Amino acid sequence: MSDSELDATVLAALKEVLLKKRGEILVTTTGTRPLPASADVNSRQGDLADQASGNNEVHIQLKLKQTDAKILQAIEEALVRMEKGTYGICRDCGEPIARARLEAIPWTRVCISCKQKQNT
Ligand SMILES: [Zn+2]
Repeated sequence: MSDSELDATVLAALKEVLLKKRGEILVTTTGTRPLPASADVNSRQGDLADQASGNNEVHIQLKLKQTDAKILQAIEEALVRMEKGTYGICRDCGEPIARARLEAIPWTRVCISCKQKQNT
């Protein structure tokens, strides 16, 4: 058995990681946050400095959500590939993805050499 081989135990462990990560993202992106008390909202009106920092915070949260959405999509695809038995195969070159890479990023679609080609 080679180090890059994905046996049922490894696959099950990676699936656990994928499901856990998916759960974390779903809580982060769809979790309800308590609405601020109306008195707090009123006191903020007209305070430009406070509003500016508030807007900035919203902007950062939107960026985070975009990243989360991408990961979520990749996780869903990875779970589908596990069902089909094609998980761990590079989307671009069809070679097996190194096990260490899958353990680091279980939702990755491509092997490290294809990823590096994308970046150049
Ligand atoms: Zn590849």
